[in-house]
Order: sequence, then structure tokens, then C-alpha cells
Amino acid sequence: MSKPAMTMNAFQIAIEQFDEAARVLNLTDNQIAMIKQPRRMTEVSLPVRMDDGSIRVFQGFRCQHSIARGPGKGGIRFHPEVTADEVKALALWMTYKCAVVGVPFGGGKGGVVVDPRSISTQELERLARRYIAEMADLFGPDLDVPAPDVGTTPQIMAWMMDTYCMHFKHHLPGVITGKPIELGGSEGRKKSTSMGLAFCVREMTEHEHIGISLSKATIAIQGFGNVGSYAGEILEGMGATIVAICDVDGAFYNKNGISMKAALDYIQQSPTCSLKNFEKTGLAKKYDNPAMLLEEEVDILIPAALEAQITSENAKRIKAKVIAEGANGPTTPEADKILNSRGIHIIPDILANAGGVTVSYLEWVQNRMGYYWSEERVNQDLERIMVNAFKEVMNTAKAYKVKMRTAAFIVGIDRVRKVAEMRGLYA
Ligand code: NAD
Repeated sequence: MSKPAMTMNAFQIAIEQFDEAARVLNLTDNQIAMIKQPRRMTEVSLPVRMDDGSIRVFQGFRCQHSIARGPGKGGIRFHPEVTADEVKALALWMTYKCAVVGVPFGGGKGGVVVDPRSISTQELERLARRYIAEMADLFGPDLDVPAPDVGTTPQIMAWMMDTYCMHFKHHLPGVITGKPIELGGSEGRKKSTSMGLAFCVREMTEHEHIGISLSKATIAIQGFGNVGSYAGEILEGMGATIVAICDVDGAFYNKNGISMKAALDYIQQSPTCSLKNFEKTGLAKKYDNPAMLLEEEVDILIPAALEAQITSENAKRIKAKVIAEGANGPTTPEADKILNSRGIHIIPDILANAGGVTVSYLEWVQNRMGYYWSEERVNQDLERIMVNAFKEVMNTAKAYKVKMRTAAFIVGIDRVRKVAEMRGLYA
């Protein structure tokens, strides 16, 4: 599956979402001018020696959307369809996501145009190191702190951290989060985005009287990587039944439920590290058309792959009552309108998937103290922060009579606006 053709690109979508909340907040043109556009966008060419001796040049990006509330913060995506506008959109979402959960960061995002599965491990390492080396001056624990995203892993974070530390001859683990635990990564980081998403789903189903009980709920998950797979595992642990899953290599369903342990074990042993041929286990059937997963008859749908998967074309056929956005930007504004008019509850990305950056923040704090916490302690903080953010967004939605997406932007924008005004303009 590749990205569907979009009428708007990801940055235009992010801007439209911003504008809607700015309109409700009655922001002045000057207030908008201070916080809307990305502060800095860097594009680099990354020459890498391939295993056969040839040199291939990859295109790389880093966007720092805002540093008003703290250093830039956001993942690095390795994907063949990364574009400058996509990176800018993801950076904007990071700014307001960090503000929604109240962690002291701005927003940033990076990307490299590459299919990481198409190059060798050694080539991947050289590319990761070159990316950080090329932009070393932009990064730092007090400047801009990257993390994993689609196509990048804790091992890639380890290579990037090592390159940065060797370059500046300082041990600075807080330059990057999502590292392996042995290198200063945080307990709980691996599953934190999924855990945060599960807390949001639990709050929605337990406290908002929407007629769904999590213990009886059925769930479909698009994308079975870091976010989607652990979201399935955690929500299954909370009593839900996962009836459909998919990744780039296929989509699968079983009305009686797919064991998340079996699916995770399958991926670990699979030569492609994916769900390819999962139907051969007999645990689930394969959809002829993977896009059908989004339209499955379920209570909760979790898009956890890429942007713009729910569009004006398929929104009218979606049957889920709740959509919890694990991915960034999975729903286009046109689809949003259709889903809203049909009474479908959307827990928006900048809230639903903020657990990752929340524990990245806890990792960064631990790195700076040189003192490390247990998983239990990390998860307690994560739960407190996510539940508070959920309640704040829900209360804002009720107070302003808007949907949760606009409410989340209202909470985030208001926090960024306040600090931007306090700081004022330099020169
Ligand atoms: P990942 O690379 O671990 O997994 C992505 C998954 O999506 C894989 O299973 C891949 O096969 C699948 N996929 C890719 N393209 C697809 C397509 N067109 N259709 C179906 N499946 C497809 O990435 P991840 O870290 O799990 O990130 C997933 C989403 O969550 C992204 O939008 C990312 O920005 C967002 N996100 C991630 C984190 C995090 O901590 N990793 C935090 C917040 C948001």
C-alpha cells in the first residue's frame, strides 16, 4: 500500500487544522505570525558509500517548527515518500503535541527519502551517521532532540547518538531519545506511544458515555509497527478483541480475535520482520484489498501507519464508532467533516499519540540527571500526564463546543502563543 493521492498535502492539512483553532480562539494576525510557520527548514544531500563501492546521494530534511517552549523535538522518518512538506507538517504537529501534554519542548521533525528495507544494515548505519554529521550543529540536548519515527529504530538512534558524541567529543545522551536502554534509553519508551493511546481509548470508553465498553470492544489496527503492534497488545490486555491488523505486506482479519502475542512472535521470526504470509498460520484470513481493513465492522479503529489514510473517499464507509489516531495526520480535513457529521468520535493524533514524546521527555530528564527510573515509575508519570491531557482536551471541546481535534489545537496553540508573547521578538 502506498499513500493515496491527496487533494491537500500534509502541510496544507496541518495549516488548515491550525487555522480552524486560531479562528475559534480569535487570534490576531500578529499572534498567528508569531507561531504558525516553521522557524527553520534544512535540506541536505547525504552521500553514502554503498556496499558495492558506488556512492548514492540521499535527500534529508530537518524542520524546527518552534523553539518557543523549549528545544525542538521530533522523530526522524526513513521512508521512500518523505517530502519537505510532510516533514514541515509533522514538525508543526509536534509543536502543538508537546504543548498539549505540557512537556517543555518545541516541535521538530526529520526525514530521509529512503526505503530502509532496500539497503543493507551497513549502508543504513552509514546513512544514519551521515544524516547527523551533516546537521550536527542543529542538534543538541538544548537545541533540537530527535527520536525514532516510521522506518527508524533504537539501533539507528544509537548510531546517531554515537556520531554526535564522537563529533563533539562529549558524552551527551540527551541529544536523542528512543535509544536502547543500555545506552540511556528510558524504561517504558518502547511501548509509550501505544500506552498513551490506550489510556486515551480507556478514558473515552469509560468516562464519556459513548456506549462502548472496552472489555467488549472490537478493534482494527492499520500499521503493525512500533505504535500499532503494542497498542494492540495493551488494548487486548485491557479486555478488547483485536479483529483486524495490517502492515505494508498485507492485511488480515479474524472475527473471533487475533492473538497479539502470536502476531508479535510471528513478526519477530519473519525474515521480512512483517506480517507477510501471516494467513499461512491459520490465525487469520487475508483481505484481498488491504484498504478494506479501515472499513471493517468494529467499535474502534486505530490508524497507526501514515498520513491521509482516511479520506473523503472512504470516510462515509467507516463503521467504527471511535477512531484513535496512532499515526500523525491519518485523517484529511474533508474526511474529518464527514466523520464528525456521522457522530464518529475522533481522538486526534496530537493527543492520542503524545505518549511517545512524553516518555521521550522523561528519557531526556533522566539523561540530564544521570539517574534512571523503573518502568513502573515512568508509566505512572505517563498515565498521569496523558489522563490530564485527555481531560483538558475533552473539557475544552465541551467549553468551546468543538470537536476534540480543534480542542487539542486550542489547548496547544494557547500555550505556545502565551510563551511566544512573553518572550517577544528578538531584534
Ligand atoms: P513503524 O515504522 O514502526 O511502523 C509503521 C507500520 O506501518 C509498519 O507496520 C508498516 O509496515 C506499516 N505501513 C507503512 N505504510 C503502510 C501503508 N500504506 N498501509 C498499511 N501499513 C503501512 O512506525 P511507527 O513508529 O509505528 O509510526 C507509525 C505512525 O505513528 C507514524 O505516523 C508516526 O509518525 C506515528 N507516531 C509514532 C511514534 C513513535 O513513538 N514511534 C510517536 C508518535 C506518532
